[in-house]
Formats: sequence, C-alpha cells, structure tokens
Amino acid sequence: MTGRSVPSHVPLWLALERSARWSPETLRRWHAARLDEVIRHAYGNVPLYSPRGRPPAVHEPEDLAAVEVLDAASVRAVPIEARLAMEPPPGTDRSTTSGSTGATAPVLHPPVLRRYLGASLWRRDRARGIRPLRRRARMGVGGSPGEAARVVGRRRLRLDAGAPPEALARAVERFEPHVLIGYPHLLAEIAGHLEVPLRAQAVTCFGEQLDPATRAELRAGFGVEPLDSYGANEFGPLAWQCREVDAYHLNHELVYVELVDDQLRPVPPGVLGHVLVTDLVNGLLPHIRYRVGDLAAWSTRRCRCGHRLPTFERIAGRQLDWLVGAGGARIAPERLWMDLLVPIEAMTGAVERYRVHQHVGGDVQVSVVPRGAWDEVFAASVREAYQRELGPEIVVRVVPVDHISRLSSGKFPMVTSEAARALEPRA
Ligand SMILES: [Zn+2]
Repeated sequence: MTGRSVPSHVPLWLALERSARWSPETLRRWHAARLDEVIRHAYGNVPLYSPRGRPPAVHEPEDLAAVEVLDAASVRAVPIEARLAMEPPPGTDRSTTSGSTGATAPVLHPPVLRRYLGASLWRRDRARGIRPLRRRARMGVGGSPGEAARVVGRRRLRLDAGAPPEALARAVERFEPHVLIGYPHLLAEIAGHLEVPLRAQAVTCFGEQLDPATRAELRAGFGVEPLDSYGANEFGPLAWQCREVDAYHLNHELVYVELVDDQLRPVPPGVLGHVLVTDLVNGLLPHIRYRVGDLAAWSTRRCRCGHRLPTFERIAGRQLDWLVGAGGARIAPERLWMDLLVPIEAMTGAVERYRVHQHVGGDVQVSVVPRGAWDEVFAASVREAYQRELGPEIVVRVVPVDHISRLSSGKFPMVTSEAARALEPRA
C-alpha cells in the first residue's frame, strides 16, 4: 500500500466498522436495495445478462432467486468481453485465478473494489487483534528465481511459496514478522525448519481448507492458534475467523452470499450448501449467483466475539493431501500446485481443469483437461517440475483427459495421495 492511498481507505474502513454492527434486519434491507441496483446494472450493461430482457425487481434478498445460477466453469467459458460492463478503468488489477475448482480464469479488480478490499482487510485485522503497521510476511506464487523472500518497504516480506522450506524458514527468522500469512501445509513446513522459535502475534491461513491436523501442527510450531480465511480470486476474501477462532465473519458489504442445496433451495443453518456469490461492489465484472464450487454451512449461533450478522460455521473448500517424495519425505501439496500453476500462467489458456493424484506405490498422475490441442511441451515442463520436487525415483505421468469428476462433496479433488494416507496412523 502506498502512503497516498491510505487516506482514501480510512473513511471506508470506518463505514465498514459501523456496518459490521448493523442488525441482521438492517443488513437485509440494505442487501435488497443494493441487489436491485446490481441486477439492473448487470442486465443493462453486461452482454452475458442483457439478452435476458427486463431485470427482475428485487424487493427482498430472496427475490434474487429469479436470476439463473451460473457455475464457475460455464461463466469462464464465456469470453471476458461478454462479461464486462465497460472498458476496465485505469488502475484495474488483472490476474489469473487457479480457481478452487481447478479451472483457470482471468480476474479483474477495478479501483473501487480494491479500495473496498483494502478497507475490509483493515477491519479483519482489527477483529483479529492485529494492530496496524505490524511487520508481515506473506506468501505469494512466483518470485525471482533463486530468491526465497524479498523485503518490500519497511514492514513487508514477500515469501515465494515455491522456494525450499529451509530458505523460507531462514528468511522468516531474519525478518521476525508479527504476522505470518500463507498456505497451511507450506507454513507447517516452515515451522518444521525453524531453528529459533518465532514469536509471531498471528498466523493466518488462506488458499485451502485448514484441516485439524495441520491446525494442530501450526499451533505447536508457532505457539499461536492459526486464523483461517476463505476466499476466491474473483472476489478476494469472502469469510474469515476473528481473534476468537470461532465462526467465519463475512464481508457482507462486498458480496451477497447464498447457500443452497442441489435443487437451489436455501439450506437451513448447520447444513452444508453450495456457495453462491453475487458481487455488490465489482460493477466492472459483475458475478450474479455465481457458484464458486465450494460448500459452506451457516452458523446456528453467534460467533463467540458477539458479532450479530450471519457467519459460516464451517466450509468444505479445496482439500489438498501431503504427498510422499523419494525416501518417504513429506512434501506440501501446494508445491505441486505452484509448479503446475506457473507454467499455466505462462501459457494462459492451456488448461481447463487439472488433478494431481498419488497412488499408494508413490507414482503420481497429473490429469489435465486441455483447453485446446494437447501440448507436449507444456506436459514435459510440468513433469520436469514435479520430478524436481518429488525426486527422480518417483514416476510422474502427465496425461490429457476428457473430464474430471467431482467428489461427493461437490469439490474437484486437486491434490490427493493414497501414499500419504497409507502412512497416517490408523484411528
Ligand atoms: Zn467473531
């Protein structure tokens, strides 16, 4: 964040602090009015929605049910031009998402959304008891070759998620961050390689579901209870735990979230449903009733912090298993995902969907649904990267497939390992 952008965040942050204390009824009324505007805007300006004719009037948030649900995969098949309401304004952030469903897509965050995201992160930090201007070390995908970490400004360390865990641990020890942010398995690897204990104020996770075993490992390794976040690249952070490490608060001002069953009926609190998200701020690339591909359940009670607005009790998101490398070494699954992601980004559009599976004997198969013709150069680069991580003894195959089916949870399995499960202690 530059010094110049700070003042524009403050009024918005204060407004978000106030709206977080609204009553559920006030939020409902606000959502109804905002959704009505969003639907009119999308039907009037976005080619994907405009052929549908007159927009349905939204008097109650439930009236949104008149709008068709769109899957992430089907939306991504629509050319980006047909999904834009206007030319991207200057200052729009462009990136590519790997997607929790294992499908790739371009992402556009206009300046107004970036301001809201910035302000909502301040609010999240405050709810987590993280003071401003703390030293932060945050993982990201990609970096300069041979450079595990880079100091940005005075208080930020950028960790290259693909760098070796020893190098990441040394960088973290030198920087002594107050806040450590990253992918759960990779953070667990860092914890395992620390030579001096790290006194972090907070450890926060994103990118995949934080399973109980990894949570326990992070707690033991860093001496604090990790705080989980859930998000999607199209929207940024969607739900997050406060300092009470209990329910997941939502950014209700940025997105309207529905949880529905297979017949698209709302699920009662405590029951897992498909996550549907409607953008309330991104007027450039509006998503309406967009099925992210994850499942979540509304809480049956308030968060321990007393927050009154609807929260998630649990999330069934992307799940990744540890992999087993040559000699039985444990390898964070995110490493393979990075290795696949980096070549994909270099060759945008090569991959529709992918899955990594390790058989009980150790062989690894990377199944790829190609977007166009099968590219042997791409396949070889992925195989090479995987072989580097896993060791030369592990057989790696990269194969084209027509289709990758969902698990019964509705998720696409991204990284699964029978070999790692065989090593787990039996209950
Ligand atoms: Zn809370």
